[in-house]
Amino acid sequence: MLAIPGKACGDCSFCCKALEITQLAKPAGALCEHCRAGGGCGVYATRPDICRDYECLWKGDRGLGSQLRPDRVGAILMEDPDSDEYRAVCDPAKPLAWRTPLVFKHLVAMAKTGRIVVAKAGLKSWRVYASGEWGPCI
Ligand code: SF4
Ligand code: SF4
Repeated sequence: MLAIPGKACGDCSFCCKALEITQLAKPAGALCEHCRAGGGCGVYATRPDICRDYECLWKGDRGLGSQLRPDRVGAILMEDPDSDEYRAVCDPAKPLAWRTPLVFKHLVAMAKTGRIVVAKAGLKSWRVYASGEWGPCI
């Protein structure tokens, strides 16, 4: 995939912390031991396929502005591979980062398109509705 100008990871390592990576036995919210200070992967050439294949939606979507880079707002926007959900995944240490106005506005806009929108942080999750209301998933 061609890189989009202005959409480099830079010093963001948010996915290497917020997401669970079973191949590395890394739980959600724990910084991967291979993360380098200032960004980047210390085992880049031999990183697992799951890391090799992963790209957050922010990197691949020209419509998501620079302010929405995951480390800047504390949430990764992503499609759930196992369902129709559109998700904002947060670091469990800052579980309500998805309520950041910029992120919340985007989530409500996605809900208005008919998507099922869910914010997640570790084992906690919340549904966000087109009306702007939200509540815990049960
Ligand atoms: S969360 Fe996105 S921008 Fe940040 S390091 Fe991961 S892929 Fe790159
Ligand atoms: S192995 Fe590299 S790319 Fe994968 S989570 Fe760790 S630091 Fe990130």
